[in-house]
Amino acid sequence: MKPVTALIHHGYQAPDGFVSPQTAVHKASTVIFPDVQSLRERTWLDKSGYTYGLHGTPTTFTLEERIAYLEGAQYAVLLPSGLAAIAQVNMALLRQGDEVLLPDNAYGPHKVFAQSELKRWGISHQLYDPMDLADLASRITPKTRLVWLEAAGSITLEFPDLLSMVRLAKDKGVFTALDNTWGAGLAFKPFDLEPLGAAPWGVDVSVHALTKYPSGGGDVLMGSVTTCDEGLAQQIKLSHMRLGFGVGGNDAELVLRSLSSMDMRYRHQDATARALATWCLQQSAFAQVLHPAVVDSPGHANWRRLCAGDKPAVGAVHTEGLAAGMLSLRFDPVFSPEQIDTFCNALKLFKLGFSWGGPMSLVVPYDLRSIRSMAGPQMLQGGFVRLSVGLEAAEDLMADMSQALTQAGI
Ligand SMILES: *Cc1c(COP(=O)(O)O)cnc(C)c1O
Repeated sequence: MKPVTALIHHGYQAPDGFVSPQTAVHKASTVIFPDVQSLRERTWLDKSGYTYGLHGTPTTFTLEERIAYLEGAQYAVLLPSGLAAIAQVNMALLRQGDEVLLPDNAYGPHKVFAQSELKRWGISHQLYDPMDLADLASRITPKTRLVWLEAAGSITLEFPDLLSMVRLAKDKGVFTALDNTWGAGLAFKPFDLEPLGAAPWGVDVSVHALTKYPSGGGDVLMGSVTTCDEGLAQQIKLSHMRLGFGVGGNDAELVLRSLSSMDMRYRHQDATARALATWCLQQSAFAQVLHPAVVDSPGHANWRRLCAGDKPAVGAVHTEGLAAGMLSLRFDPVFSPEQIDTFCNALKLFKLGFSWGGPMSLVVPYDLRSIRSMAGPQMLQGGFVRLSVGLEAAEDLMADMSQALTQAGI
């Protein structure tokens, strides 16, 4: 045997007696079968074995199980990004002639996906006002097959009445899918929305951008789709395999490694975001501080019921429950758009960039007028920025905001 052949065929087996709590990183496109009969008999749908890297390795199967556990689900599939997970649900559940409903504050690229790809495939969509149950009810027709939910909503962080919306959709026989990136499986359980109720009930499907909290490092893109329903799981898994949406072992390992610190990171960023929210409420610069735990923030009572045991708040910012580490600020309309830009440019610790849930604080200015059609007129007045809080010390972040406000003449 020539070295080139010997090096390829050199045997390898995980060492016997090597017991470590850390998951091994298995990387594969090819999975070797011992004989023709085993190759013919293996089916990619059977997860008790392996067929091809795209359909899973011990590493990706472990991550699927942990994400299912985190979400309180039975089944999970992994995808190359959160946006791919959103697309996956739409592609598995919808067909030509169907209509899908999206909240007006849905994740922006999801709206673009509906306006372009879904439209080309003969699937229509409508936006609904996430803070108006009657508006959602009025838009559900016999064509409606799926209602998307987001709690809290993207950018403006309004917290909808998730329980009533899911109940309404269930009554009308319409599927519900939640973009659960904000709650991350920690702030509330999407498949058990009424923990004191007789039997668990909740959304049909949950999507999670693992890019955010589960990754936590700002260095990996991944998404998941989870469900408790066996039929839906099968439908999603088949579509997932046919589309070829697998993830690599190295990326799965990064998420597995970060999952163990996720609860701690979520709580830390939550506490810092609430400290910043409290500080911002004392500054005259801001007309509105948006964060579900802020008592005056839209949908605060809905958040309190679902995420804080309905305990009453003592001050302007509720201290119970859990919330993601993001807050949005609407500036007093007396300040010019140039001043808001100067404020963003002057920030040193908050970097300009998308995403959240990583170690570094981020800021993005938004023009709500161009992305929202149903926000109240008040929400559209004045400059608007979203802050995503990292793992820095709260007092350093406040000092940074303070100096940036001064530089902008605010
Ligand atoms: C980031 C994000 C996504 C998309 O995740 P990617 O992995 O960046 O594609 C989807 N939904 C929400 C709410 C997000 O914040």
